[in-house]
Amino acid sequence: MEALIPVINKLQDVFNTVGADIIQLPQIAVVGTQSSGKSSVLESLVGRDLLPRGTGIVTRRPLILQLVHVDPADGRKNEDGDREGEEWGKFLHTKNKIYTEFDEIRKEIENETERISGNNKGISEEPIHLKIFSPHVVNLTLVDLPGITKVPVGDQPKDIEVQIRDLILKHISNPNCIILAVTAANTDMATSEALKVAREVDPDGRRTLAVVTKLDLMDAGTDAMDVLMGRVIPVKLGLIGVVNRSQLDINNKKSVVDAIRDEHAFLQKKYPSLATRNGTKYLARTLNRLLMHHIRDCLPELKTRINVLAAQYQSLLSSYGEPVEDQSATLLQLITKFATEYCNTIEGTAKYIETAELCGGARICYIFHETFGRTLESVDPLGGLSTIDILTAIRNATGPRPSLFVPEISFELLVKKQVKRLEEPSLRCVELVHEEMQRIIQHCSNYSTQELQRFPKLHEAIVEVVTSLLRKRLPITNEMVHNLVAIELAYINTKHPDFADACGVMNNNIEEQRRNRMRELPTSVSRDKSIGLNPTGPTGLSGEFPASGFDMDGAKASAAGPQGEQDGTGNWRGMLKKGEEAPGSGPGSPLKGAVNLLDVPVPVARKLSSREQRDCEVIERLIKSYFLIVRKNIQDSVPKAVMHFLVNHVKDSLQSELVGQLYKSGLLNDLLTESEDMAQRRQEAADMLQALQKASQVIAEIRETHMW
Ligand code: GDP
Ligand code: MG
Repeated sequence: MEALIPVINKLQDVFNTVGADIIQLPQIAVVGTQSSGKSSVLESLVGRDLLPRGTGIVTRRPLILQLVHVDPADGRKNEDGDREGEEWGKFLHTKNKIYTEFDEIRKEIENETERISGNNKGISEEPIHLKIFSPHVVNLTLVDLPGITKVPVGDQPKDIEVQIRDLILKHISNPNCIILAVTAANTDMATSEALKVAREVDPDGRRTLAVVTKLDLMDAGTDAMDVLMGRVIPVKLGLIGVVNRSQLDINNKKSVVDAIRDEHAFLQKKYPSLATRNGTKYLARTLNRLLMHHIRDCLPELKTRINVLAAQYQSLLSSYGEPVEDQSATLLQLITKFATEYCNTIEGTAKYIETAELCGGARICYIFHETFGRTLESVDPLGGLSTIDILTAIRNATGPRPSLFVPEISFELLVKKQVKRLEEPSLRCVELVHEEMQRIIQHCSNYSTQELQRFPKLHEAIVEVVTSLLRKRLPITNEMVHNLVAIELAYINTKHPDFADACGVMNNNIEEQRRNRMRELPTSVSRDKSIGLNPTGPTGLSGEFPASGFDMDGAKASAAGPQGEQDGTGNWRGMLKKGEEAPGSGPGSPLKGAVNLLDVPVPVARKLSSREQRDCEVIERLIKSYFLIVRKNIQDSVPKAVMHFLVNHVKDSLQSELVGQLYKSGLLNDLLTESEDMAQRRQEAADMLQALQKASQVIAEIRETHMW
């Protein structure tokens, strides 16, 4: 059994680092009929005289014998730290009492057996727990069991046979148990109760080893040749014959060493051809081999586990970073790493890609095109403007002078009012992007620049610098966005090609409607229309054709013919101002007067006159058309401004800002103060990693040795 010690010792190192429960050696239990020599077999395996043996029923309680290997170097201490001899034993039931004499141990087993089972051959299923500490053993558990018996004697109950069988089965049904089925050579192997009971729990014979004892006691003229050759009963793992000490030897206190020497001599003489495959030594070697097989089977899993652990500790360790040697280099490196990570998160090239939600550049894009874009699109060009507002504006713009035509100034005033409404969502867009830029800081320190966690002060300082950089850019960006709207308000470009186009189409429609109405309505009404509706060409065009004039004008405002060039305002002006020259210009407010002047009496109730309606309609259409142009501009230019003044600026100046503010020799010590437990955690991780690497090496060595 000592051959196992170096391997187990090495593995023990592995166990100590990764948890001791990984390889559990099988326990070894002996079964067989009473007095077949079970206790003797166990004892010679252990190599110590410690078990009570004898004729009749001796083992009356299961004995769970735990062998505990102690390192001879520091092994003179027992597990409680008491200094003891080289080998010693301890019982569970006597607590901390130390037994240094094996005679004492045997006595205690006998006493304890009697205590529970009485002194009249009674048995008990309550096990005795004994631990033997020695540098000469491996960590292994051996179980000595009462022998199978048929007829109750003494205090034994009637069903003694069943009780003992159950007791045996209870211990050997554990799949992690090697069964030594002990049969005496002077009984018939074919009737072996031991093999019978073993087969019940191990039908394939994968963990049953047959041991034939008392080879020396065979009748004259018989030998165990057939049995040992496996011809009587084949046992997969093998059949091993042994010679234990006889009762006389025990009485004479024959030593284990002598017994083994005599056994060897006996085998050489009686079974020369089989001598090398029998005997206590061979039994021990076979058990060794079985245990080794077991260990080997466990190794791949252990190796995998160790490798996984090693990888985990490796990455943990690298996240802790190296101890700081060159402070300024470390600082610069961390700053650069953070700045790069920050920019990468914006660019979308970060190593760590968030999958739970949009972040960084993608989120900014979302803000621009979804949040901001949609909000702008949902702004109603005429929102907040009632017809009355429009009419009032028209009237106010006309001033004291009654006018026949819608004054241009009213359009401008109204359209500006609408354009102004774009400012708030634009500023909100800046705010959202600013918030996201702020969030990226957190993102970077959480995932990407884990090393930063080591230096809480540096982390704080970086956050502070970036935050204040962002804060500094906020008013500048806001200002720009404000200006973008202000620019739109500064000059209402009615010659904008898109606007001119829109007006042209619109005029055409209005004119068409007018013509249709003229065709349908009586003259008086048509006159009313022709005067009231400013678009009616004062340019001398009349009847059915003025429309075509507008049409042309409108469709290609700037490129239009001489007419467009002449009035220099594009056709929409034609709709408004040209009317001033119209022959119909007369007294009265533009709302009532014009209509009233003519023959149609106006109802007193505040119902819009058709002229008012038309005026409103015209203004509304113009506002709408112009507003859409401006909105498109803003939708396009605000993101650009935000990118330029906030995002790109921060991106470009982040590194130099950080370096400028933090890379100062006076700050080095303070900023690179590690969090308190960091140094300790790093050391622990490094130790663990080293142990794991050694463990992995040990396993590799064990797998390579020729033990199998
Ligand atoms: P157990 O009841 O199965 O535990 O058997 P023990 O180990 O107590 O042995 C019963 C008796 O048989 C003891 O007196 C032993 O000395 C004796 N005995 C066991 N094995 C051998 C053997 O191989 N040869 C001889 N001559 N006696 C043996
Ligand atoms: Mg016994």
